[in-house]
Amino acid sequence: MQRRSITIIGGGFSGSMLAVQLARLAGQPYHCDVHLIEPRPAPGPGLAYTARRSEYLLNVPCKALSAFPEEPDHFQNWLRVTGAAHTCQTVFCTRQSYGRYLQQLVGQVLEWPAMNGMNCQWHNSSALSVEPDPAGPGAVVRLRNGELIRSDLVVLALGNFPPALPTPPPHDYVRHPGFHGSPWLSGALSSIKSTDDVLLLGSGLTAVDVLLGLRADGHQGRLTVVSQHGRWPTAAVPDAPAYPSFYPELAGLNTVGEVMRVVRRHVAAAQAQGLAWQPVLDSLRPDLPRIWAGWPLAEQARFLRHLAGMWSVLRHRSPPGNAATIEELLASGRVQQLRGRARQLVPTDDGLLVTISRAGQPDRQVTARHVITCTGPLLDYRRIQEPLVVQLREAGRLVPDPLGLGLLTDVNGALLNADGRASGTLFTIGPSRRPAFFESTAVPELRAQAVTLARLLGQRLRQLEHSERTEA
Ligand SMILES: Cc1cc2nc3c(=O)[nH]c(=O)nc-3n(C[C@H](O)[C@H](O)[C@H](O)COP(=O)(O)OP(=O)(O)OC[C@H]3O[C@@H](n4cnc5c(N)ncnc54)[C@H](O)[C@@H]3O)c2cc1C
Repeated sequence: MQRRSITIIGGGFSGSMLAVQLARLAGQPYHCDVHLIEPRPAPGPGLAYTARRSEYLLNVPCKALSAFPEEPDHFQNWLRVTGAAHTCQTVFCTRQSYGRYLQQLVGQVLEWPAMNGMNCQWHNSSALSVEPDPAGPGAVVRLRNGELIRSDLVVLALGNFPPALPTPPPHDYVRHPGFHGSPWLSGALSSIKSTDDVLLLGSGLTAVDVLLGLRADGHQGRLTVVSQHGRWPTAAVPDAPAYPSFYPELAGLNTVGEVMRVVRRHVAAAQAQGLAWQPVLDSLRPDLPRIWAGWPLAEQARFLRHLAGMWSVLRHRSPPGNAATIEELLASGRVQQLRGRARQLVPTDDGLLVTISRAGQPDRQVTARHVITCTGPLLDYRRIQEPLVVQLREAGRLVPDPLGLGLLTDVNGALLNADGRASGTLFTIGPSRRPAFFESTAVPELRAQAVTLARLLGQRLRQLEHSERTEA
């Protein structure tokens, strides 16, 4: 029987855990090679967990971070067995440790052929294009190192892209040494001297990381944070008792206003009982895809316009120690906060001149030696300039969603083409699936996607085997 192949492009959490789940599929042996494409020095950690600084913590307690939905203690056991538990601050561990955990899991799959016949190999390169296979169904993936991989099935697991440029053109500041467009690059903060003035754009989890990093480096210069809403991520309450699901009250509601009214009622009820609001929002998490999918596009757009900023502050939380440090930095005046949006950045002899605008107020100007973009990952596939994305977008085989959240797919994650037809070859997993689920970012959602997609790809392999047998 012909050996089949699945190519997974991107070896961060999503792509690596998909490879691991493919190796765990049960049943008759598969005759299949899995090609995992990842240009970083090792597959597994991806962008989020390649962090080399020990002050960068996971923002979710360890107990919620098992790579396997059906083995909730897996990560905690790994920490214990490997002696890495000392890297945890209370229940929050370093992202570095988590990266090692993922690297080890995928490393096992790369080292040994799986019992089910799947044979996984890592290509330390990036994919530049995916073209239809001229010899029949499937595709040919071209890598930067010149390799061509014939693939029956291809999965885009491209993850999070660096933040968008913060201002409209001109962008002549992009190559300025004081402009840091991607705060996650290795050594991103190393050129900052302890007395340099630094301005951060954004006040989310990335800004928290950068401030903690600068503090650990003994930075003494002026620190300014510019954000539109001026809010910081709230502190996690890891030991709060769970709140019962009230999804039945939300089922069938198709406006944001109706849903918000019910949620507010439950928050008030929880607070009246002396409970925190956080578990009320957390109780919605398993049902968020259904709530989101129940809103027509205009309601989804309304949510993004008016509530997404607030949602991200309430939903994406900081470890309590980090939140306390930010409060302290603000209260002591070490960090100055400005509300507004950067409208223009101009290189000067002293660094960068930043013009900040806010509705109804005169523009302000601040000069800083360094400007760091902390506005969060870019997931708007209409604007992503990565060569592979551009190639597929121009060929009409990858279609960005109209709200700028990710990619259009069918229910299984198969890419829809420009004619709205689901591809039989191209799939996606990870943050790119936000148009379908809205929350498609954190480990609990992504590990479940890896299980479901691995099963689906397993079924597709069986169908290919079946048609080969019937044709023979
Ligand atoms: C800084 C940061 C911290 C986070 N912390 C947490 C946390 O504490 N808890 C949590 O639950 N979630 C966290 N997240 C959310 C995060 O989205 C997920 O946890 C998860 O790591 C996403 O994995 P991914 O594989 O989809 O994306 P990524 O980690 O972005 O990995 C995608 C990979 O694809 C590769 N790639 C891209 N293009 C190509 C190409 N053309 N060819 C080959 N390879 C390519 C990249 O090199 C990259 O390694 C964090 C996210 C970020 C950005």
